[in-house]
Amino acid sequence: MCGLKIPCEHCNGDITEYYNDGYKGKRGKCPICGVDFPLE
Ligand SMILES: [Zn+2]
Repeated sequence: MCGLKIPCEHCNGDITEYYNDGYKGKRGKCPICGVDFPLE
């Protein structure tokens, strides 16, 4: 198991976590519908 899986609230896809340099923190992005939001 590799940590928390977050389902996309729009399409129920798997949210991908990534580090955003501009935001200086972790964000989540849905590869299916493209929604992007802060995780912390
Ligand atoms: Zn989605």
